[in-house]
Amino acid sequence: MNNNNIYLDNASTTVVDPRVLLEFNRVQEDYFANPSSIHRLGQEANHLLEKCREDTLRLLNLKNHQLIYLSGATEANNLAIKGTCLRYKNRGKHIITSSYEHPSVLEAFKQLEKEFGFNVTYLEPNKEGIIEVPDLKKEIRDDTIFVSIMAVNNEIGAINPIEEIANLLAKYPKIIFHVDAAQAIGKLEKSIKFDNVDLITLSAHKIHGLVGFGALIKKKNLELLPLLSGGGQEYNLRSGTNDLAGAFAFEKAIEIALDNQEENFQKVSLLAEKVIEYLKSKPEHYELNLPKVINPYILNFSTITKKGSVIVEALSNNGIMVSSVSACSSNKQKQSHVVKALNKSDKIANNTVRVSLDASNTNEEIDKFLSNLDKIIGEIR
Ligand code: PMP
Repeated sequence: MNNNNIYLDNASTTVVDPRVLLEFNRVQEDYFANPSSIHRLGQEANHLLEKCREDTLRLLNLKNHQLIYLSGATEANNLAIKGTCLRYKNRGKHIITSSYEHPSVLEAFKQLEKEFGFNVTYLEPNKEGIIEVPDLKKEIRDDTIFVSIMAVNNEIGAINPIEEIANLLAKYPKIIFHVDAAQAIGKLEKSIKFDNVDLITLSAHKIHGLVGFGALIKKKNLELLPLLSGGGQEYNLRSGTNDLAGAFAFEKAIEIALDNQEENFQKVSLLAEKVIEYLKSKPEHYELNLPKVINPYILNFSTITKKGSVIVEALSNNGIMVSSVSACSSNKQKQSHVVKALNKSDKIANNTVRVSLDASNTNEEIDKFLSNLDKIIGEIR
């Protein structure tokens, strides 16, 4: 990376940790054989794959779950949602999610609605950006079979009450609960307890791992309909030759993220405070779009006097990388559906800027970003 750049788009992706790359290269060089091959090298690779799977679950403190390696959170969300709902469709066709999920969740729900006759309830977050447990409880029906609520929203950083939702849903044995935790692992003050969650989505590249790698973690007894058929790898749920080096690299990324979670959170909190203080001091130019409990890793604000996308472009021209709407939507969509869900005006939802921080960002970088923002707001007509 050009070292003059200031990278404040860590919710889109993070720079790979060199230790992750080293681990990938080590395993790729030493254990290149296909874990499905029956010869000795294949069986050695297979043994290591299973060990890595168990070790990764142990790192995450999960005893009653299985881990399925996939290409990232998009695939994990699709497998969780379509794989479960299509498998259990005879039990009921009502499913629930929130209106501000990642597109890989929303589009999967829409597909089930349009192509397979499911009935979807989209829960709205409250004005603080949180999905409330009583709101969810009200929508549960006799034919509800599936609920998907994200742990941390990728545009405003809102942290949902996942443990409370899981406790509520545990009273409804027919309902399967899925959590998209792509922005949550290693990036919260305290890790979420996922023991009562049936399906958990993870992505490697949000925590300095490799892009194109992730996992779906599922309760052992849960059945899914596979979306990819073939050689039967990954408990017959995701066929395709296993990426052993990718699995080890992912474990390394999780280990580093969890080992440094507390320290990183404190560092990022100090940086976030600085940004928030500044934005609050200029109410004529900025409106903060933040949840009640602020997540320092993801800060969202709208520009009042200038177009958000123009500010993002001008910052980029000065070597400062932030986003307008999330990277997955930014090519298609002008308005943030997430900020709109907070009951904000079209103007505010059209002009969002997301600053997503990392513990590797420095005070000097934040100062530079804020002084550039100040200059740009003053200059652009
Ligand atoms: N869910 C959330 C909450 C995300 O932030 C992202 C990444 N923008 C994804 C899913 C998709 O992740 P991946 O790139 O691993 O497919």
